[in-house]
Amino acid sequence: MGNITTIQAGAREDGGVELAGRCACGKIRYRLGAAPLIVHACHCRDCQRITGGAFVINLWIERKFVAREGPEPRSFRLTGGSGKPHDVFFCGVCGTYLWSFYHGAPGEALFVRAGTLDRPEAVRPDVHIFTRGKLPWVQIPAGARAFETFYKIDEIWSEASKARLKANRTEAA
Ligand SMILES: [Zn+2]
Ligand SMILES: [Zn+2]
Repeated sequence: MGNITTIQAGAREDGGVELAGRCACGKIRYRLGAAPLIVHACHCRDCQRITGGAFVINLWIERKFVAREGPEPRSFRLTGGSGKPHDVFFCGVCGTYLWSFYHGAPGEALFVRAGTLDRPEAVRPDVHIFTRGKLPWVQIPAGARAFETFYKIDEIWSEASKARLKANRTEAA
């Protein structure tokens, strides 16, 4: 993670509710300067292990929109489903997993854990992925988009999010 980014008033792109969160001990706090590009529920084994839950809820958002306060998170590296590195960031004091950086994901973006939001009820998954790892008692809501592994961004994302990703890739290049 780079330095703390300052979000100016009015920097929000969607005009919606500001999303903010923190780790369990409160040493690390963050605010999101935009709505997520998309919200994933990931049912893969790594996400189950990392969270200790049945699945993770991740907000895919450009790194520049994640404004952190407090100490630099610590990290460790796994191999993601793409075969490329997956860096997992956590509070060095309490160990709460805050976000991931997937080297295989396009753009310069973080995957922020929805469970660390002050108001986790403010988001819901747009898509369920890696459902091949889904625990048998988990019921995916009727009508929800779900994939055995991953999906094609072009087929799933909103036009606005696709435009943001394109800009993000240009910035990251
Ligand atoms: Zn903490
Ligand atoms: Zn996963």
